[in-house]
Amino acid sequence: MIERVLKEIEQSPEPALPGCRRCGGALMMYEEPTCMICGWRDFTFEQPKTPPSKTLFDGARIHRARYNGDSPVLTGMVIDVETVKRAASRTGLLEYRPSCPYCESLMLRTETAKKDRDSGVTTRYICESKHRIGLVDRAHEVLTWID
Ligand SMILES: [Zn+2]
Ligand SMILES: [Zn+2]
Repeated sequence: MIERVLKEIEQSPEPALPGCRRCGGALMMYEEPTCMICGWRDFTFEQPKTPPSKTLFDGARIHRARYNGDSPVLTGMVIDVETVKRAASRTGLLEYRPSCPYCESLMLRTETAKKDRDSGVTTRYICESKHRIGLVDRAHEVLTWID
């Protein structure tokens, strides 16, 4: 049985996912690998894509920023934001390195931060695929992002 399943996977033109651990059926990739036959889902599956930036900087911390704009599609989306303490920076403040919510690549700051009395400090970022977001920092306490 297992050999037969493996053979089918080898013949599949799609990149091979392991077969269903419940019934041996073919898995399709949705949010998790999901069995087409019995509906079993592999919740232990981890996306192989990990932003390489996470281990590059000493003292880096990962924060999470929740979407705070007005797009219903993006509502609830949370992105990783790395904070790096920059002793030598002009401001002496924490520097943020958000992961792009659309393609997960590291984003770079595009312009100086703008202070807004009501909503905090908004800094614009751009990724290598030209996606743009803004990070809103309220006294380093609540970090949110906008598009
Ligand atoms: Zn199954
Ligand atoms: Zn992007």
